[in-house]
Amino acid sequence: MTFYEIDKEDEELIKIALSKLESNFDDKKYNYTVGTAIRCKNGNVYSGVNCDGIHGSCAEYITMGIAISAGEREFDTIVAVHKDFPNKVIAPCGNCRQMLIEYCPDIKVILNDYENKLVKVGIKDLLPFACL
Ligand SMILES: [Zn+2]
Repeated sequence: MTFYEIDKEDEELIKIALSKLESNFDDKKYNYTVGTAIRCKNGNVYSGVNCDGIHGSCAEYITMGIAISAGEREFDTIVAVHKDFPNKVIAPCGNCRQMLIEYCPDIKVILNDYENKLVKVGIKDLLPFACL
């Protein structure tokens, strides 16, 4: 597995995801508890929060939908945030990993390593032998 250094743009991406989450946080009725920000290869950034419900949708899906709806097709890096996780960063679930690898097999994901240090890894490292 290749680990990429977190740079200033990545730190900014985390801040944008946290800002989106904080401006929409609601852990009672709607459970907007996860925020996500995605940076496109052209530098544009989109952010969103999860939608709760019986068949709710992760923030990664919401944010990817926002970006795609805006016409984006090339993605560089994504991060998801939750207030209760180390560095307030949470790794994507298995369902989101599959979605990410299908939409953007070279996207990088910011997450915590085993020592809770922020790192960036390629989505292929997060879902080996994925069905594509
Ligand atoms: Zn997910």
